[in-house]
Amino acid sequence: MFKLLKTIAKAGESTTKYPFAPLEVGDAFRGKPEFEPEQCIACAACMRACPANALIMETNEQTGIRRWQLSLARCIYCGRCEEVCPTGALKLSAEFELAVTNKADLYQEAEFSLSHCLACDQAFAPKKAVQYSLDLLIQDGLGESQVEQWTKLLNTCPECRRKQNMLEGEGILQGHMLTQEFTDERN
Ligand code: SF4
Ligand code: SF4
Repeated sequence: MFKLLKTIAKAGESTTKYPFAPLEVGDAFRGKPEFEPEQCIACAACMRACPANALIMETNEQTGIRRWQLSLARCIYCGRCEEVCPTGALKLSAEFELAVTNKADLYQEAEFSLSHCLACDQAFAPKKAVQYSLDLLIQDGLGESQVEQWTKLLNTCPECRRKQNMLEGEGILQGHMLTQEFTDERN
């Protein structure tokens, strides 16, 4: 008996006092995703990466709003959203006690304004994502003279950009044909 007590004393405590005392988790623990709406640019990268469809984004072009939503009921705490988020707006925390009495508490939501196309006025991309792209270009050394041009470009919807490119392409083609005619006439 004495030998057994001695072995137990030597082994120490092999269980934790949880839930009577807080449970310490490791640095790599993947708990509840914490969302910082101020950091988020509504780029939708997390939604595309989420394997459990726990992240949803809805874009309403009429109201000019993109809605971001996380459902903790669907989340499998894989951490893919944290990996792909370009701004650190989503990070898995150490929190694991997620039981709620109200189902609505399992949802987190945020809304973001969309930028309107300078050419057609259609809402097309989150304002914060457009500004983020411009900030990255400036950070990468975009010259002051180019900022205005890029601001216009980034605030134009893909459809209008495509039309403008086609017109510019036609202009180049017409210019090329005129030059060709002029050269032919001279020859
Ligand atoms: S942790 Fe995984 S399942 Fe949960 S929201 Fe992020 S990507 Fe989706
Ligand atoms: S990836 Fe990050 S910045 Fe983009 S929508 Fe998700 S939380 Fe926001």
